[in-house]
Amino acid sequence: MDIDKLWNIFLEKIKTKISKISYDTWFADSKLYKIVDNKAIVVVSMHIQKKNLKENYNDLIEEVFTEISGSNFKFDYLLEEEIENNIEINTDEIGVPNNNFETNLISKYNFDNFVVGESNKFAHATALAVAENPGQMYNPLFIYGKSGLGKTHLMHAIGNYIVQNKNKRVLYVTCERFVEDFIGITRKKNKNNFDNVEIFKKKYRDIDVLIIDDIQYLGNANQTQQEFFNTFNDLYGNNKQIIISSDRSPEDLKLLEERLLTRFNWGLTINIFPPDFDLRMHIIDNKIESNMLNSSFPKDVKEYIASNCTGDIRKLEGAITRVVAYATMMNGSDITLSLAIEALQDYFSKTIISKNKIDQVQQIVANHYNIKVEDLKSKKRVSTIAFPRQIAMYICRIILEEPLTKIGIEFGGKDHTTVMHSVDKIKKQIKKDQNFEFEINKLINQIK
Ligand code: ADP
Ligand code: MG
Repeated sequence: MDIDKLWNIFLEKIKTKISKISYDTWFADSKLYKIVDNKAIVVVSMHIQKKNLKENYNDLIEEVFTEISGSNFKFDYLLEEEIENNIEINTDEIGVPNNNFETNLISKYNFDNFVVGESNKFAHATALAVAENPGQMYNPLFIYGKSGLGKTHLMHAIGNYIVQNKNKRVLYVTCERFVEDFIGITRKKNKNNFDNVEIFKKKYRDIDVLIIDDIQYLGNANQTQQEFFNTFNDLYGNNKQIIISSDRSPEDLKLLEERLLTRFNWGLTINIFPPDFDLRMHIIDNKIESNMLNSSFPKDVKEYIASNCTGDIRKLEGAITRVVAYATMMNGSDITLSLAIEALQDYFSKTIISKNKIDQVQQIVANHYNIKVEDLKSKKRVSTIAFPRQIAMYICRIILEEPLTKIGIEFGGKDHTTVMHSVDKIKKQIKKDQNFEFEINKLINQIK
């Protein structure tokens, strides 16, 4: 039974039973992960989705699924990261023979939907080169970068590409899974221990490409490192491709043995950097487009999200889904900047630390001109307030280099064109008035 097909049929059916926006938000990106006995496991991307499916849609889902499959299934819902992190139910542990051998690849992570920008173009190009020539170009390929920058996505993209274009066996595992599998064989010592060892070896050596994610979790368990070392040597010696990711560079992997680090450096090490504003905007567009949400997503909302999610693409995606979910809960109201700000209040509050800098500038300027910070954020147009407001915006833009949209928001929800206009005006004033420039510099010097 092809479960992807089955799920597509199911989705078509569900579509006719609920509204489009509900479908798009809760079902469109769902996947049937696997079926074990009478249990079906569905994977979704966000918590609210998991919760909602479980609590509000489960009956409908079971009913429709029974209708098309002809038998009764109980449903369970998991997040992608729960699967990546293997918090899954232990169903097909190593040892279950599988004709369609296990790859663990997630098909939705591919090269087509990996958006390329300055910060990741080298990583992307190298990944593609390895996908086209597994075992020949760079071996091992070591990708590192902070969380949420696309390492896992790229690794799956390589794996999927190889499976589709080459007749090769690929195995993707998280480092934790590798460790668990290894611990599994040592634990089951009494019961046919021998078989388990064989199965482990078969799983990890009878392949052409081993992708191992988040190697930093290999930790300092000596035996596991030893086993990884053996696996590595065996694969490497047979010209099999090894792809490794980590949240830090090999040099910073303090717990790993020297000889393993040496081996990582035999191949190519690439760094993936945080996305710049442009790339963040592109990723947002891409995400909206692929979920067919674009009609209702205004530009200032995108800019708001892009300005506030600077370092983590996962967070960026989360922001989009949260806004959509929020609009749905508000009875399908239009997505506007104020709705987005409301929806993302808690979501961002944890991350916006640099906001304090804007606060600081507002405080300094307000003190200097003897007005209140609230005045700066108000709509008041008297020049005794409007002028200091322009100065404060100018400093936030030129000195703090904050995005226009963000400045607008921090000044009581002004449009970014208003900010731009203020910045220009102060710039001109500084050009023609040296004393004024001096005054501004004094303010800037007060920023800590
Ligand atoms: P990491 O493994 O580095 O922590 P992931 O690969 O899990 O990060 O990426 C987090 C999320 O961001 C994923 O949903 C992924 O699809 C998405 N993502 C990351 N980089 C890109 C990109 N360049 N284009 C599109 N989506 C991306
Ligand atoms: Mg990852």
